[in-house]
Amino acid sequence: STQIQLAARPVGWPKASDFRTVTVELGALQPGQVRVKNEFMSVDPYMRGRMNDVKSYVAPYELDATMLGGAVGRVIESASDDVPVGALVVHAFGWRDVVQEDAAGFRVVEEIPGLASSVYLGMLGMTGLTAYVGLTEIAKLKQGDTVFVSGAAGAVGTAVGQIARLKGARRVIGSAGSAEKVALLTSKYGYDAALNYKDGPVREQLASLATEGIDVFFDNVGGDHLEAALNSFNDGGRAALCGAISAYNTTEPVAGPRNMSNLVTRGLTMKGFTVGNYAEHAPAFYAEMGPWLQNGEVVFDETVVDGIDHAVDAFLGLMRGENVGKMLVRI
Ligand code: NDP
Repeated sequence: STQIQLAARPVGWPKASDFRTVTVELGALQPGQVRVKNEFMSVDPYMRGRMNDVKSYVAPYELDATMLGGAVGRVIESASDDVPVGALVVHAFGWRDVVQEDAAGFRVVEEIPGLASSVYLGMLGMTGLTAYVGLTEIAKLKQGDTVFVSGAAGAVGTAVGQIARLKGARRVIGSAGSAEKVALLTSKYGYDAALNYKDGPVREQLASLATEGIDVFFDNVGGDHLEAALNSFNDGGRAALCGAISAYNTTEPVAGPRNMSNLVTRGLTMKGFTVGNYAEHAPAFYAEMGPWLQNGEVVFDETVVDGIDHAVDAFLGLMRGENVGKMLVRI
């Protein structure tokens, strides 16, 4: 099995020498084990946090050990009745081409005809669920709300805009980092308006697009985006804090929004969340998202990098914004 290990803890932006590729001999299958050939592995922003040796909601990656992450693959050998040969499985043993572990570590997915297995890592997987939980449970989206989404052209963001629209948002505004992404948000993803945060201060750009204010903010970016949202909120506004990617590779302390007093004066609610704590919403999510995908009410993009040898490049590309929709590695 070809596997990618963390060789050194990155300082600031990770570099190639922080990782190493190894070949691991897999022994004979033990009772209860399965062997899975991975088809796609996920690269995700949270993995940057796991490369640091700090206490967080997921354990740090161990040095000189194969990294973990979401992946989807096909069972090629099985010593378990629950997870038979041929089953498509989603699991957390990414960063390798073949994995052999106890069957309990794998979730068999019900395949939807016409959808490639990669969808179970994106729109019908962790990032889709994050968007769904964040909007419905955390931000308590209501009919008629105006919604602002940062990181809108990424895996989570493209899901947020479409779910908001399907759940009755009145106006959906997105932010992304290129003219192409901004155009895609309005032409393909149901956004009413979008801004390029590299074109000028987000606070001013948002104010001009949200002349009647915003009710919900779904934040993937933090920093200036959060400050802009706090400025544009209507009374009783709600923010779901999902991520703060603008700070993941910085070594300096991050400045907070300078206008937090709006929380008081406008009666705002801000709530952070990690999707792992909301797994009980997964069945409701699958029940809605499956049909939305099948009947074309939800569309998606994937940016696919070929070969496990390019997995680190895919991860760095994600952090630089080279993806539209879900960033994936085809194994
Ligand atoms: P994306 O597909 O959105 O990819 C990351 C994107 O972030 C890039 O494409 C880039 O787009 C943007 N970006 C990078 N640097 C900056 C910056 N300095 N300022 C603004 N945008 C930047 O990734 P995901 O959809 O997987 O994740 C989105 C966010 O959601 C992340 O913050 C992640 O940590 C968080 N997350 C949280 C979860 C939870 O449970 N709370 C679960 C999953 C994800 P651009 O070209 O627009 O800059």
